[in-house]
Amino acid sequence: MNLIKESVLRLNEYKVAQKGARIKLNQNESPYGVPEELRAQIIDRLNRQDWNRYPALEPEALINSIGRYCQFPAPGIMAGNGSNEIIQAIMLASCNTTDKVAVVTPGFSIYPRVGATIGANVIAVPLDRDFQFDAPALIAAALDARLMIFATPNNPTGTVIDATLIEEILSRFRGMLVVDEAYFEFSRISVQNLIKKYPNLVIIRTMSKAFSMAGLRLGYMLGQPDIVKAVNLARLPFSIDVFTQIAGEVLMENVESVAKHVDEIISERERVFLELDIIEGVNPIPSSANFILFEIENCRGMEVYEELLNAGILVRVFNDHRLKNYLRVTIGTPGENDSFLERFKMVMSGKRGRKCESRA
Ligand code: PMP
Repeated sequence: MNLIKESVLRLNEYKVAQKGARIKLNQNESPYGVPEELRAQIIDRLNRQDWNRYPALEPEALINSIGRYCQFPAPGIMAGNGSNEIIQAIMLASCNTTDKVAVVTPGFSIYPRVGATIGANVIAVPLDRDFQFDAPALIAAALDARLMIFATPNNPTGTVIDATLIEEILSRFRGMLVVDEAYFEFSRISVQNLIKKYPNLVIIRTMSKAFSMAGLRLGYMLGQPDIVKAVNLARLPFSIDVFTQIAGEVLMENVESVAKHVDEIISERERVFLELDIIEGVNPIPSSANFILFEIENCRGMEVYEELLNAGILVRVFNDHRLKNYLRVTIGTPGENDSFLERFKMVMSGKRGRKCESRA
């Protein structure tokens, strides 16, 4: 007897380079740490907390501070151990084996991964040739899917879906629509106001990006209270430890430093875009997130990735055939962005001299 399900054995290992580079621009993290005074506040509160006791089952204070930040009623909020845990809980709660789960491609790889793990039938809806959301294809996929999930801004393209298209999907869709707003702070666009009208809409967000908390694992979901209650049934109790609960509260109560860093990242994103755009043979895609996907004409992304890595700069490269000529760079500090741009221009001018070795 096979001890492991076929659908799991077929998965590739989840791999991402995490260490070893001087400048790390590959995981869409914030380049800014949590400010010193907030770290001190978090540690101080943690020191006054019992570690031998389980964390609160319902992290009430955290949920209330998320509610204040989002201007959303507390009964419609669920927190989780990173938004990854929430994605898993939603799928566990809503999908039976063989149900159709619609995702977009290229998109965030965790959705098809979790879908495959539970044995669902994952349908990938391609973005159009400019990496924009394809309205007719999405509406067609929605006809018989049990669940549809995508991110806006989308990872790895940075492109956003129009709110009117979301509403068009919702007006016909009977399944659950999960809109992942992981990069909401950088796009400043949300469809949370549609939740009241459409009970089958849920929104997920993360503290891993704008809030500089990727190392602590905290995400949250917004939805109608009965959906939130039901998804909570599929989640393991105590998944958010006391440290993360406290850090989440402190950061949510002190959003000024987050807002300042977000402004800086957005203005750097525009600068990096323009600088990439003027390089011959390089085509960046306008992004509403904290990263930029760009094409390097006639050249494999892997080749440039390796040259950048040799110089201590880590960006993101893809296995996906459609993205073989692309790289994704996370927006870092101005200094990190300068180093990346300077080195990238050097690599590109070297390539123009001798042409790309492996023409893609
Ligand atoms: N959604 C999207 C679209 C993401 O890009 C990411 C992280 N790369 C996540 C969710 C995961 O976030 P978390 O760290 O909260 O699990």
